Amino acid sequence: MGARAKRVSDLSALRERLEALRAEWRGRRLDSDPLAFPHRYADPADREVVAFLSSSLAFGRVASIHASLERLLSPLGPHPAAFLDAWNGGPIAGLGRFVHRWVTGRDVEEFLRMVKRARHAHGSLGALFAKGDSGGEDFVAPLGLFLRNLREISPGPDSRGLRFLLPSPSSGSACKRQHLFLRWMVRTDGFDLGLWTGGRFSPARRLLPMDTHVHRISRYLGLTRRPSADLAASREATAALRLLDPEDPVGYDWALSRLGILAECTGSPARRHCERCAVAPVCRERIGPPRRTAREKVMTT
Ligand code: SF4
Repeated sequence: MGARAKRVSDLSALRERLEALRAEWRGRRLDSDPLAFPHRYADPADREVVAFLSSSLAFGRVASIHASLERLLSPLGPHPAAFLDAWNGGPIAGLGRFVHRWVTGRDVEEFLRMVKRARHAHGSLGALFAKGDSGGEDFVAPLGLFLRNLREISPGPDSRGLRFLLPSPSSGSACKRQHLFLRWMVRTDGFDLGLWTGGRFSPARRLLPMDTHVHRISRYLGLTRRPSADLAASREATAALRLLDPEDPVGYDWALSRLGILAECTGSPARRHCERCAVAPVCRERIGPPRRTAREKVMTT
């Protein structure tokens, strides 16, 4: 087989295996993800607010994330958006002793004040995001502006927790939780909510939400060779996925992230799930040492 035919064959094998993985996880295990929380609400305004809170706290162990979200959402009642609109900005009963890792109840209250003021000034978080989006290959620049606008809309106290809830993409961070929120908002397929559509919310601009698990598996699959789970790795892996699905490159994210979240792919030498893993035939961890990434192969064609 010639070199070009081999590259096409490699990409085609990767696409086939990723499609198999996607089919395996389609419509399954919503309970394993913080995306389950916005799905509890019917009103799009509630879904948007709860999705932003849920994705922002999506760090740490899955059980701990879910327990924290239960504690956070309970005081907001059955209609969190209406609760915020009517809230006087004072202490919220039940949040005083809230802690999720280094994020405190006071941090969350300040975060909620920002959401409240954004809704009051712009009508929705989507409207605020769209206002700062002047286009571009991906959502990194408008995401940075969106987060900065939120910080400035409520110039309250600074804290480690608030800085973590509102990171700066320009620092080179992958901003996994914020790109997860964007995936939920912009994708209309599967469990994703599809609340932000039209205009510049082009599906092709989304980036793969890159955490340590997705980064590790992306390296196994040759989507990136970057050593850290940073913005550059997210962009490189997304560029590789665009070769497979230009319109919906992060459409594989639900399935890829299940491998890490549900401990299907532990990264341990035991590799006890490899035998039944859909991507095993194209996994470098399984079949051999890393070679060039999928994107590099095309670039050298
Ligand atoms: S084949 Fe094994 S190491 Fe590779 S992604 Fe699947 S579970 Fe992980």
